[in-house]
Amino acid sequence: MPLTPEEFFENATAFADDEGRVGLSRMTGWEIFPFEPDGLRVVSLHRPETPEAPRHGQDPKTCRSCAASDGVAVWENDAWRLIAMSEPSGAPLVLMLLSKEHFDLVDLSDDMAAQLGQLIVHASRAIESLEHIARAHVSRWGDGGAHLHIFFFARPEGFTQLRGTCLAVWDDLLAPVPRDVRDRDAARVGELLAASYGGTAGASQESPT
Ligand SMILES: [Zn+2]
Repeated sequence: MPLTPEEFFENATAFADDEGRVGLSRMTGWEIFPFEPDGLRVVSLHRPETPEAPRHGQDPKTCRSCAASDGVAVWENDAWRLIAMSEPSGAPLVLMLLSKEHFDLVDLSDDMAAQLGQLIVHASRAIESLEHIARAHVSRWGDGGAHLHIFFFARPEGFTQLRGTCLAVWDDLLAPVPRDVRDRDAARVGELLAASYGGTAGASQESPT
């Protein structure tokens, strides 16, 4: 059984200073770490609070993802939709795959889970086929919103410094890519996904009222 929240806190801060700060880790020595270690310090780890505050969309009636009011439509079929973020960001392309019905990852039926696996592969293949894109990173956190959403981050070719998990941080640091370029690449992924998996590319869906 994992540690209780209090046990986890005590263990994790075993070597913390008087303010509850742990030291910098080997992560700051990674060649892909986006910050210089000089002057950098780790924030204090807060004591655990349980039960946790509800996530957005815990109640499907107020869920923005159920209302399909988020992002820019890239592709859809009867059960899934792929969207781009409302605004471009530092990574060449950031897409989100969502179920149309209100599920979290662990709620999916085996059939939906199989579809999700295939869609992750097809969407990744489409993203990695774009010129000047080296990799499609795939992430599911689920701590912000309760409605299942899988992130795809396109990693630009030639930037090995942007490899790995820190691309999600770089995405927030770098100047946004031009909207027309981002929109064109997102539309291309929608077309490729429709061709390889089925479904419809583009903004054909009507938001339910
Ligand atoms: Zn929802």
